[in-house]
Amino acid sequence: MEREKYFLSNHPARIYLDVIAGISGRLGFAKVLQLANLPRWIEELPPYNDAREVDFADFSALNAMLLKVYGPRAGQAMALQAGRASFRALTPHLTTTLNVQAATFQEQPPAQRIEAVLAAIPHDISSGAPHTTFQVAGEQFIYTADPCPFCWGQSHAPEARCHGMVGFLQQAVEWAGAGDDYRVEEASCAAVKESKSTACVFVILKVD
Ligand SMILES: [Zn+2]
Repeated sequence: MEREKYFLSNHPARIYLDVIAGISGRLGFAKVLQLANLPRWIEELPPYNDAREVDFADFSALNAMLLKVYGPRAGQAMALQAGRASFRALTPHLTTTLNVQAATFQEQPPAQRIEAVLAAIPHDISSGAPHTTFQVAGEQFIYTADPCPFCWGQSHAPEARCHGMVGFLQQAVEWAGAGDDYRVEEASCAAVKESKSTACVFVILKVD
């Protein structure tokens, strides 16, 4: 796994790790870090600041190890929750540009509200790289992380691995007040491919 190429911002990564640690417990978390070859995080987790110091390779290794240690079902559930928490941690920053409580915001159709929230996410913070983009596809959305920090460097995985990103986007949709109308899926995961692709594609689907 290629190291020292891309870095996540400490704060959202730390929030993510805190949730994983909270669910897995002290010993469980230490075991995951040990197996993922991340012993320095046992000593000290990344600080709550915006320095960009969390290597995509470490973050990806932790995510892969969660699935291995806890099994796909529990591992995915943990990543989803942790992803949701990292979005929630971002909302105080977002409210400076977007007032989701305002009547003028709430009166807009759900698709428009989601678009406003996606546009307000500082894409360098959410992904750690300025390569996160979204496209509007009718009333739905395509969100691309390239490179994706959740599965950076992984290949030949049996299934999509970036549930942390799914949780992050799901929480964004709920914050937009559109949780009943939309759901998030990872449509294409770089980890599943055999090629050196680094892009993960998420769709925000309208529920009929
Ligand atoms: Zn992926």
